[in-house]
Amino acid sequence: MIEVKTSQMAIELEDKYGAHNYHPLPVVLAKGKGVFMWDVEGKRYYDFLSAYSAVNQGHCHPKIVGALIEQAQTLELTSRAFYNNVLGPYEKFITEYFGYERVLPMNSGAEGDETALKLTRKWGYKVKGIPEDQAKIICCQNNFHGRTISVISMSNDPDARKDFGPFTPGFISIPYNDLPALEKALEDPNVAGFLVEPIQGEAGVFVPDEGYLKKAFDLCKAKNVLFIADEVQTGIARTGRLLACDWEGFKPDVLILGKALSGGVYPISAVLANDHIMLCIHPGEHGSTFGGNPVAAKVAMAALEVVRDEKLAENAEKLGILFRDELRKINSPYIELVRGKGLLNAIVIKPFNGKSAWDVCLKMRDNGLLAKPTHDHIIRFAPPLVITEAQIHEAVEIIRKSIKDLE
Ligand code: PLP
Repeated sequence: MIEVKTSQMAIELEDKYGAHNYHPLPVVLAKGKGVFMWDVEGKRYYDFLSAYSAVNQGHCHPKIVGALIEQAQTLELTSRAFYNNVLGPYEKFITEYFGYERVLPMNSGAEGDETALKLTRKWGYKVKGIPEDQAKIICCQNNFHGRTISVISMSNDPDARKDFGPFTPGFISIPYNDLPALEKALEDPNVAGFLVEPIQGEAGVFVPDEGYLKKAFDLCKAKNVLFIADEVQTGIARTGRLLACDWEGFKPDVLILGKALSGGVYPISAVLANDHIMLCIHPGEHGSTFGGNPVAAKVAMAALEVVRDEKLAENAEKLGILFRDELRKINSPYIELVRGKGLLNAIVIKPFNGKSAWDVCLKMRDNGLLAKPTHDHIIRFAPPLVITEAQIHEAVEIIRKSIKDLE
């Protein structure tokens, strides 16, 4: 491997040899620890993205990395052609942790969503009695559930869809946070499920009205429709509760997890549900070579133990309140709005002096804090949940200074 000596060199290599499917902020990271990352030149940054909420437990958490190393040196992969001595204990651990009867392990978040879609359709035919090939799943406008063909079939983002058709049929798209629209869509007897993000992360951290999720759940129950929560981004303590749905005191029928299920050290996702749903899938009908492998199983258990032992949900709730309060004190023509829950937050940027959210992110980078715009005018702030109160104050100071530098 050639040695990357400068940031510029790494950028040029990616530009020349990689597909151009991302537009990263120009910063090249070489090291991470806790809430910090360092670039190739050794400059330190606060990480205020956490790899889109995968690194909730902080970079290179020793307990999670230790689990990875130990298991990788013992038994890495068996496929599901055979049993192994780690998957069963993991399945017991994660189902008890989240309060479900069964888990189906996968790798990426998008695969988790695909799994939930297949499971819901299967339940629709086998249990609800929907006629063959007629099952429908309700989804929400401005959703983000990943990048596979079926998942983008639910999207209304032109960048996600253009020139990728034809799309998977069987979806009904309704506005987010709109109970009458859901009620109307549920009148169709062939609806098997309603898939929703408890907070729309990629859309710009849209927090629905209080009570929306529980009422939507109740509407689904009244029509014998599965409520499917995509907690890939909101789950695992990010919003100040273990799950964002916990804020409204109900348990989704189907729960999709990813990202922080590994604390960022390995791609791990999972779908959880009770017997009457999960047992609709039989051998040979779904799976993945890597899903539930021994390394993933050990890593996920360690990552979930860290969340519980270090009280990360409590920290996210407490410091989220402080963070939003402090951001709201910044008086600037650039800031239109601050919103969020726990440590999943965003500011809406008003273009000013010809500068946009991208320029704010570049300035924050110069001042030692990394975040990324979503949809041109929104900046998401999602630091690792191990952040301390003093670090929140320091980070807010960097954000304040960066915005003032641009004025
Ligand atoms: N679902 C939600 C809510 C997400 O935010 C994301 C990624 O940002 C995904 C699914 C897709 O996850 P992955 O990129 O691991 O496929």
